[in-house]
Amino acid sequence: MLLLCAPHALALGLALLGTSAQSAPPHAVHAAQTIKAVPMSKKLIAFTFDDGPNRRYTPKVLQLLAQYHAHATFFVIGQEVQRYPEVIESIKSAGMEIGNHGMHHRWLHKMTEEAVRDDVAGGADAIVAAGGPKPYLYRLPAALSDDTSRRVLGGLGYTVVSWSVDTRDWRRSMSADRIVKTVLRGAAPGRIVIMHDGPAHRANTLAALAQVLPALESRGYHVVSVGDLLRQSDFAAQRSIPPGSQRPVANPRRQLKSQRPAPRRGWLQSVLHRRVG
Ligand SMILES: [Zn+2]
Repeated sequence: MLLLCAPHALALGLALLGTSAQSAPPHAVHAAQTIKAVPMSKKLIAFTFDDGPNRRYTPKVLQLLAQYHAHATFFVIGQEVQRYPEVIESIKSAGMEIGNHGMHHRWLHKMTEEAVRDDVAGGADAIVAAGGPKPYLYRLPAALSDDTSRRVLGGLGYTVVSWSVDTRDWRRSMSADRIVKTVLRGAAPGRIVIMHDGPAHRANTLAALAQVLPALESRGYHVVSVGDLLRQSDFAAQRSIPPGSQRPVANPRRQLKSQRPAPRRGWLQSVLHRRVG
């Protein structure tokens, strides 16, 4: 799963990739679907911020997003939510989306089913207790998962959100200039950018954000949340996305065109209905 989520495993045009429940018994709950990007022609790009909320940095991120009429999804850690519940209120009142990043930022691979359930549910409970909505999107800490954790997440109704543009801004040595270059080079319709608004050393992220938002705007992009991306997907109005391969394909664009799935009610529609309805 680490390789699957690593940016170098992504090919240009890999729009959307699902995980399968192939290793699970037939009666088992399907594993959570994973998205890295969403197929679309519109110039929308999703920004995501992990590891907050943070009293110092999150409000500054919100301020910049508001300045450029941009939206984003904040994947928050439950224990940080408990420390700064007022920041959740700020995220919510700014019209941003809130996703679950676990209670304690624990790596879910090799954990027992019960431990995974506790950490994921704990993160959701913290968000709801702070006044946020019940989350339906989950981001894996360190991008680590296994069959057990993906099944638990699927059973809890989550869609796992990976990324297609990795700024690596969590590295203290990552300069604002390099973050800007990474985002602008990787920008394409339907892609998902990962950045961090916590827990510390986010000055370079903020400096980069102040540059990339106007740069993307000048290129005709709208910066949106993951939920916005899903609702605007070329697939959303036409058909659902069936469970796919767990591995990236050599030419995902060709596969997407040649293996048109039969229309059926599936996970994307479920996500949309849960979100909208
Ligand atoms: Zn994280």
